[in-house]
Amino acid sequence: MRVVLVGPPGAGKGTQARALQSTFGIPQISTGDLLREAVREGTPLGKQARTYMDKGELVPDSVVVSLVAERIQKPDCTKGFLLDGFPRTIVQADAIAAELDRIKQQLDAAISIVVTRQELVERLSGRWVCRSCQAMYHERFTPPRKSGVCDACGGELYQRTDDKAETINARLEVYERSTAPLLSYYRERALLHDIDGMGTPEAIAQRITTTLKSLTPQSVA
Ligand code: AMP
Repeated sequence: MRVVLVGPPGAGKGTQARALQSTFGIPQISTGDLLREAVREGTPLGKQARTYMDKGELVPDSVVVSLVAERIQKPDCTKGFLLDGFPRTIVQADAIAAELDRIKQQLDAAISIVVTRQELVERLSGRWVCRSCQAMYHERFTPPRKSGVCDACGGELYQRTDDKAETINARLEVYERSTAPLLSYYRERALLHDIDGMGTPEAIAQRITTTLKSLTPQSVA
């Protein structure tokens, strides 16, 4: 099953994609994680990406499209994938559709996670992420058992530099301008499923799972 998760920063795309991996036996592919890894490693791509990411702007389409095109051809994607944070522009959506067409595949669903703006800002500004396994915590809603330490793997928790108040606003504006048009794009192609993104991560995962399992058997092969 080939799925894209669409939604503003803080909607819970990463949390949900990670949870759904084991339910459906397909990997989460997060362009944000791939780019942050390149930044950490100091590769030429990472150096280029950093200048955009620090300001909350989008990295150029050509850069992320080649990252994803390469990643979805790895053997763990044979049964499908969950794309998290990609596509973020119509150009990216067209590019991935063309790439899938080329390898005789197609998307099965676009999941839109719907959350109020106030909730997004609250979620992003209290967010802590594990440096090792990328698990997410929130200082008020889902705090780790021990402050600064990941419950899952013991890794160090950190706050993303782009989760600062001024960058959060820039990212939400970029979402409205460049990414929100994808909702109509996928609705017109009968791929869009709106999911209520308010509530516990478990309740939201259940809603997405029910929706994906209701797709016809042919489309989830
Ligand atoms: P995320 O972890 O998905 O919130 O992404 C963090 C940052 O990485 C974004 O604010 C962008 O600067 C960059 N980024 C991630 N995915 C994309 C994408 N599909 N297109 C362009 N930039 C991206």
